[in-house]
Amino acid sequence: MKDNYELKQLKKHFAVCMAVFLPLIWLVSWYFCEFDMRKAFLITGLAAGFGIAVWVIACRKLQEIYGDVADISDLMVEVVEGSVTYDGEVYKQGTMGLLYTNYYKMVTALRESRMKEGREKEFLRDTISDISHQLKTPLASLKVFVELLYDDKITEEEKRKDVLKEAGKQLNRMEWMVLAMLKLARIEAGSVQFEKRNCDVREMLHTAMEAVDYLLGKRRQKIEISLPEDSGKEGTVNLFCDKEWLTEAMINLLKNASDYSAEDTVIKVSVEENNLFTAIHIEDEGVGIPEEALPHIFKRFYRVSNEVNPGSVGIGLSLTKSIVEGMGGRITVRSKVGKYTRFTIRFVE
Ligand code: ADP
Repeated sequence: MKDNYELKQLKKHFAVCMAVFLPLIWLVSWYFCEFDMRKAFLITGLAAGFGIAVWVIACRKLQEIYGDVADISDLMVEVVEGSVTYDGEVYKQGTMGLLYTNYYKMVTALRESRMKEGREKEFLRDTISDISHQLKTPLASLKVFVELLYDDKITEEEKRKDVLKEAGKQLNRMEWMVLAMLKLARIEAGSVQFEKRNCDVREMLHTAMEAVDYLLGKRRQKIEISLPEDSGKEGTVNLFCDKEWLTEAMINLLKNASDYSAEDTVIKVSVEENNLFTAIHIEDEGVGIPEEALPHIFKRFYRVSNEVNPGSVGIGLSLTKSIVEGMGGRITVRSKVGKYTRFTIRFVE
């Protein structure tokens, strides 16, 4: 091991000490040995040998300690550079071992906070790029509509109305998208506190159905609800969840079930309850989702290309998943193209 600065300094001090004390020892022993020079040299030689032996042992120990300190210092550099790997094992004993252990704990905490910081930055970057990317197209169309109307380029009243109707549609889409994106960002950033309490599933389903009633009415679609008969108190099924947020998740699923089904179809909503879990199934008789799209269906901005809903943004399902998982539940999907799509929200008891 190479000598470090402290060791070199100590060596200098040792040499000075020897240079000062050895003649002194020689003088004292010479005096006490009745001016016998041989005895004085012998005593001085023994003292020098003892001193050097102690020095060599102390030097080795010091070199070890300084080596450990240097290792820790190297590790600190690696932590700062982010290249350190901690295997959780501690090889040293005693005070140095303790220092290593505490240092490793600090390394782990530092690394975790670094990773968290990195993930947050990545999340923020993705969210901003997603929002700007998704808003560009409707904003560009709105700009064109405004310019056309402002320059009086559309003279026919009927066409003006069409343009305004389209502008209204784009605005609604943007509003829904921005609100959904903000909700999703808040949930994913962990700033939403779900207020979980015992909620009546039937009540939540009715609120969700009321919200999509207008949509269903327009397309003459119906919802059939089936609750478990043996659910104790007169058909009441309780779920420990946040009522508002779970209702929002149900609205998203019901809205999709309606959007991706033909007119005059039925949407089946059933609730299953047993000792292990409570599940809510929402099944439609619509276009279905291709098998290869199923693994991606909950990803942000993922859309299945079909003509049924060309305005799809691909955010409703990822928001629904975040809501359900944020409350400790799980959401799954099964589908067969042209036959059915069945979403299941499941909460383990
Ligand atoms: P959006 O936010 O536009 O409503 P979603 O995230 O809810 O989009 O849905 C993503 C994609 O999943 C949609 O483009 C659609 O193709 C598909 N999808 C969602 N629900 C259904 C369903 N019930 N039946 C068929 N396809 C569906």
